[in-house]
Amino acid sequence: MAPTIDLRTELPGPRSTEILARKQRVIADAKSIYLPIVIDHAHGVAVTDVDGNTFLDWTGGIGCLNVGHTNEAVSAALHAQVDRFLHTDFTMVPYESYIELAERLLARTPIDGPKKAAFFNSGAEAVENAIKIAKLATGRPAVICFDRAFHGRTLMAMSLTSKQHPYKAGLGPFAPEVYRAPYPYPYRDESADPAAAALAGLRGMFNTHVAAEQVAAIIFEPVQGEGGFVVPPVAWVRGLREIADAHGIVLIADEVQSGFGRTGKMWAIEHEEVDADLVTVGKSLGAGLPISGVVGRAEILDSAPPGSIGGTYGGNPLACAAALAVFDIFEKEKLVEAAGRIGQRVQARFDALRDQLDLVGDSRGRGAMRAVELVEDQSSRRPLPAATVRAILDDCIERGLVVIKAGIHDNVIRTLMPLTIPDADLDRGLVILSEVLTMWDRRPRG
Ligand code: PLP
Repeated sequence: MAPTIDLRTELPGPRSTEILARKQRVIADAKSIYLPIVIDHAHGVAVTDVDGNTFLDWTGGIGCLNVGHTNEAVSAALHAQVDRFLHTDFTMVPYESYIELAERLLARTPIDGPKKAAFFNSGAEAVENAIKIAKLATGRPAVICFDRAFHGRTLMAMSLTSKQHPYKAGLGPFAPEVYRAPYPYPYRDESADPAAAALAGLRGMFNTHVAAEQVAAIIFEPVQGEGGFVVPPVAWVRGLREIADAHGIVLIADEVQSGFGRTGKMWAIEHEEVDADLVTVGKSLGAGLPISGVVGRAEILDSAPPGSIGGTYGGNPLACAAALAVFDIFEKEKLVEAAGRIGQRVQARFDALRDQLDLVGDSRGRGAMRAVELVEDQSSRRPLPAATVRAILDDCIERGLVVIKAGIHDNVIRTLMPLTIPDADLDRGLVILSEVLTMWDRRPRG
């Protein structure tokens, strides 16, 4: 088999350089570029740029491509849909694929009893609508979210998000009645029992910040995504469920990044064996087509009256066709199980890096949602400066591996490779990452 990585020019190559110079003139600076190359085409885990360089892509458009780039089944479904109809607005002229997608999604959603779904375009939109639904279901105004949370960039989603730069600074005032509680961080928490400490913090807030009977929803990521792939203790998630039950609060699991098999279960929340009332989904649901959804208890979704949630394009026919193909691929190729196998391989390598390199403070994750947290040294646990982490990532890119950071200090390297990745490409990427981290571990830091 030909090696996936094939670098033919200096990076960026001449054609990418020329196109990116044009980008600089006409595209808003906020659209800053991570990978300084311009794509020509992609397939599976490989991305080829306009200069003919091919990279291993472990970002998948930030976790959207669990089935890989241009998966044949997704492409075929899109080709078939393109000539039938492109858009109606489901609420104007409905189509079967939207309904079938709900049926298949609900069949895989771990919630007992009658369930329903509604589709939107982006993760942020799913979050906005989940909160609207929870408010309508409870008649209450407040929402509880968590330290390091990321839920998107629209007003409510941004208000729920934790990190100030670049997501919030300068953008207030934020949505009112949003209260932030501690989310356990086993690697950094000083408490001997991070779950109990975080739950005590949340319970205390009902006394000092917001009365429990005012709270419509608790929204949490079952594994934090942008916040650094932080895995909470099972006891904390179960505690959230108990608190929600005790006070009639809607529990929302934001699975936009952790869902769709990434963690070795269809939904990360299945690891805790806890039911959420609502689950938000997005990213890998559409294999690159913009689609997201809210799924959950029927009586909660049905509290939103006709017309109160929606949007012109939500659940667009092309996106539904892609998402149905994604379900076929998951079933045929057993991708949930694949995520578990990938995760074991990555974890073995990451654990070894943590054991060997002072630079690697923590190795963590669930399934194929894995990360290493980089520190100045293991004893101080001081986060490695973001500029150094960026230089490390650039060294990976120079060798043909595209990986990205996460974390409140930008010092976590996370893996979002397709779950269809061949073992050879998994090992290739792990070797590059290990070599680069080993090289940096030998350099003076600070
Ligand atoms: N929720 C979570 C957990 C996410 O990770 C993200 C994006 O990274 C979002 C919501 C927002 O999704 P989108 O960028 O599609 O609006």
